[in-house]
Amino acid sequence: MPDVRSVLAKAAQRLGERADAELLLLHVVEQPRSWLFTHAEDVLGMDVQTAYAALVERRAAGEPVAYITGRRGFWSLDLEVTPATLIPRPETELLVELALERLPPDTGVTVVDLGTGSGAIALAIASERPRANVIATDASAEALAVASGNAQRLGIANVSFMRGDWLAPLGERRVAMIVSNPPYIEAADPHLAQGDLRFEPTSALASGEDGLDDIRRIVIDGREHLQSGGWLLFEHGWNQGKAARALLLKAGYAQVFTARDLELRDRVSGASLRA
Ligand code: GLN
Repeated sequence: MPDVRSVLAKAAQRLGERADAELLLLHVVEQPRSWLFTHAEDVLGMDVQTAYAALVERRAAGEPVAYITGRRGFWSLDLEVTPATLIPRPETELLVELALERLPPDTGVTVVDLGTGSGAIALAIASERPRANVIATDASAEALAVASGNAQRLGIANVSFMRGDWLAPLGERRVAMIVSNPPYIEAADPHLAQGDLRFEPTSALASGEDGLDDIRRIVIDGREHLQSGGWLLFEHGWNQGKAARALLLKAGYAQVFTARDLELRDRVSGASLRA
């Protein structure tokens, strides 16, 4: 009889990836990770096996695990994700860390997350800074519905959601911090047509010929929406650090920097608006 161990081994072989096989099985049996260790000898019912086999085939056809399970962990949060939202990446936690370094624990300032998607960045910051007022914007109503659903389910009340392009929803308002993981892949990058990226919204991934169209816009418009001394922090590609700093300097920002992710690649740049 097929027990958990053998069913998993077979799926891992099919997918060439043990972690995905485990996540999908845990999703079918609705159990936490520890279940794998305590139930390795359990015999799986026919219905579970059938449901699992179907998910393994979807993954084998390329669909990202997070879209199959509808879930992805980010920071300390378990987020709902759908094909309307980018799948949060671990390297984006660097952006959250850099934001928190600039926000004292009891801060009551306003922080805006542009293009929030599933709400990952906004919710991580809001959960760590409960007195801060976080505004999450997105041009996609579908994405905002996912993000606000996540806020509700996680009981994070200090985030509000506004629909619109980048800073447009703010009107004339100025804030203490702007953060964003905008699209930054070059429109002609062949990776967009490969692997998991194929399934994600192109509007959340690609940004013009050099991938910098949206970053240029955020850098320029950010000046009209930051209080003096306020910080702008955004994610970008590993090869865009120099260009990002040049844009910030040209736009007149101070304290311009680039930070590297855990794999030592340029990942986030930022600067403050001159007083
Ligand atoms: N980091 C993502 C990737 O290269 C892109 C995310 C983005 O464009 N913001 O897969």
